[in-house]
Amino acid sequence: MKCPVCRATYRPNETSFCQRCKTDLSSLIQIHDRAVWHYRQALQLFTTGDYLAAQAHNDRAIALHSHHADFHAFAGQLRALQGDVQQAIVAWEQAQQLEPLHPVASKCLQILTEIGSREQGRAGSRGV
Ligand SMILES: [Zn+2]
Repeated sequence: MKCPVCRATYRPNETSFCQRCKTDLSSLIQIHDRAVWHYRQALQLFTTGDYLAAQAHNDRAIALHSHHADFHAFAGQLRALQGDVQQAIVAWEQAQQLEPLHPVASKCLQILTEIGSREQGRAGSRGV
């Protein structure tokens, strides 16, 4: 999480003030914590196989805090599992924009690129 005033990265400590510019970040921290809570709910629902409910919670997490690469990477996994590959790619690309070396997003996009180039090679003679 970054301080909106001075862009310093906020590290959890005993106060809710930015270490650099001393802005009170308590309301931001609350929103961030709620986003993380929704994300954890989503992860838990995911393990029960309820992808739709998991996605609803994960979407809430992203709405509250859109700069978290993990949320977007997980959104991609959920979309892919529901067969929505286009939206999955969008989500993974967003995760990569926030965190270029995000392990899940990079891996999934890499696999898709490999599948894509293989399909293209096969479809080439058919002009698709
Ligand atoms: Zn600051």
